[in-house]
Order: sequence, then structure tokens, then C-alpha cells
Amino acid sequence: MRRGNFKIRILIFVAIAGFAFLRKCSQEEVNPYTGKKQAISLSPQEEIAIGLQSAPGMAQQHGGLHPNNQYQALVDNVGNKLVNSSLAKNTPYKYEFHLLADEQTINAFALPGGQIFITYSLFSKLENEDQLAGVLGHEIGHVLGKHSNERITNANFWKTLAMGSSAIDMGGVAQQIGNGSLLKNGRGDELESDELGVVFMMDAGYNPEEMIGVMEILKAAAGPNRTPEMQSTHPDPENRIEKIREAISKYKKAS
Ligand SMILES: [Zn+2]
Repeated sequence: MRRGNFKIRILIFVAIAGFAFLRKCSQEEVNPYTGKKQAISLSPQEEIAIGLQSAPGMAQQHGGLHPNNQYQALVDNVGNKLVNSSLAKNTPYKYEFHLLADEQTINAFALPGGQIFITYSLFSKLENEDQLAGVLGHEIGHVLGKHSNERITNANFWKTLAMGSSAIDMGGVAQQIGNGSLLKNGRGDELESDELGVVFMMDAGYNPEEMIGVMEILKAAAGPNRTPEMQSTHPDPENRIEKIREAISKYKKAS
């Protein structure tokens, strides 16, 4: 009797796994901005809603917005210039750029839907406007690349397997974003965002070579003993520099 019971459980598990797998396949689509095939489950409107819902909490974790309006305006202007002169403009996303007061953590990140943040700690290390464009362009790349959407979809795939339920729990997603577990980007995502960032910089008339300057700053900030936040979520600057060089020569030739 117990054996039979066990068999039924296995069958149910296989059925759920099959269902989850089919569902994941049905969610595969080609990203209209990058051409990459990816499994996503959130509409752009849902991405925007999650980003807006999570933004105040993320700002709070970094000491809130920086009080200097001039700096904030610079971040806004450079961000908007990148959006308005590139492909990013022709997307449903609502871009907003925020300078965070945090003077300790060298970081920048994007929430799904277009909420983009840079800490004062990173901002203050940048040497020119082009480097700021590099950081913001990279983050716009994460939005266009739908990287969080992919991660949320993937997390939900495993949840479907574990619990046999497939509805996305939006509150749960916002919470996972808040604790950082959905913001860690994979290597492929980083390289894709670097490349998109280079393209956006060129489209907006910035010097794409300065993206390499950003990588040098991250590398120097890492030091021998400590890894800044941006590097745990943004791995391996050396290899990224190589790929950035490749992207620059590829798009320079194309233009
Ligand atoms: Zn990144």
C-alpha cells in the first residue's frame, strides 16, 4: 500500500514538473530590444508597478535621496539624455533616476520597469559626465534586458515545482527585491548591460571609452581586502573591460 502511495506522489510530482516546464517554455519570448530569447512572466506594466512599489524601500536602505538638488539634477539630465537619444525611448518603461545619500556603498542598480539608482559613494568617485552616463546606461540596459523579470520568472518556476502553484505573488516579489535576492545579476546579464550601455552612450554623444574608466574605478575601489557591493552584484571587471573594448569597436565600425 505505501509503495503505491509513493508511486502516486511521484506521478503527481512529475505532472507538476511537466506543467511548470511547459509553462516556462510558453513564457519564452524574444526580447524586442536585445533579440535575446528569454522566459519572462511579467508584463511591462507589472514590471513598472513592482519597481515603483519597491523604490521607496530601496532608497531608505541607502539613507534616502541625496539632499543636493544640483547633483540630483545632473543625474536626471544625463539619464534622460541617454533615454531620449536611444532605443530606450521606444519602450513602455518609465525611467526615473535617483541619487542616493549613501556615502559608504559603491553601487548602482535598477529595479524592473525603470527605477534607477546610484549611490553618492559611487557618484563622487566618477571623474566626468561620460562616466556617469556609463553607469546609468548600464543600468538602463538591465531594464531593457528585462533581467529582473527573468529572475522573477525563474524563481517562480522553482516555486511552481515546490508548491504546485503558479500564481506570481507580487508582494513576495517586492520583498525579495527589498532584501536584494532578486537584484543579483548573472555574468551574462552584466555583459549584456555593459554592451547596451556602450550603445546608449554613443547614441547620446558620450565617449564610450569612459565605460572602461568606470570599470577601473570599481576595480580600484575593490582593494585587496574588500569587495564593494557593486562587485558582488557586478562581477569580474577585468573581463568586462575586454568585452567593452570589443563592443566599442563593433559599434564604431557600424556607425
Ligand atoms: Zn549591472
